[in-house]
Amino acid sequence: MDATTGKPGNGGRPPSHRRPSWDEYFLGLADAVAARSTCTRRAVGAVIVRDRRILATGYNGSPPGFPHCLDVGCLMVDGHCVRTVHAEMNAVVQAALHGVSIKGATVYCTSFPCLHCAKVLIGAGVERVVYRDPYHDPIAEEFFAQAGVKVERLQPAGAAPGQPAAGAGASGQAPEAAGDGAGHAD
Ligand SMILES: [Zn+2]
Ligand SMILES: [Zn+2]
Repeated sequence: MDATTGKPGNGGRPPSHRRPSWDEYFLGLADAVAARSTCTRRAVGAVIVRDRRILATGYNGSPPGFPHCLDVGCLMVDGHCVRTVHAEMNAVVQAALHGVSIKGATVYCTSFPCLHCAKVLIGAGVERVVYRDPYHDPIAEEFFAQAGVKVERLQPAGAAPGQPAAGAGASGQAPEAAGDGAGHAD
């Protein structure tokens, strides 16, 4: 109860507050994880979840003991920073380090996984990918579809509904996803 109004309270939240869905919750956590990125090109986060339990997290960054791009600049080869390990792969690495199976898990990614991460996630038995920022990689989409991995785009809060989800096999990519994918942290 609200002490001042006598009506059922809202836990101190503003009246407009809506509890996030589980997908929104875990994708929001992926945003927090991304803030730890050490690459200047883009901050990406991934959270691996099964049965609403976090199994592993990862952000794009240098291997342990390597210098951070933030300190020494990116190591660019053919337009990609090759020093950093992608967020999704780092999450799989963390699971491996701690001996945690991620078979049947869902991976929450701040951006659509690249082809290389897609293959690793498929190989690790991931069953579902939830992402927010599109990244045009038709081969990754095709591989996910072939492997039977469910791919869903979660729109940011407040986004206009009805925008096509760029999931497996879908061609509804947002304009910023087109081109050479320069925005992706790779
Ligand atoms: Zn870098
Ligand atoms: Zn990747």
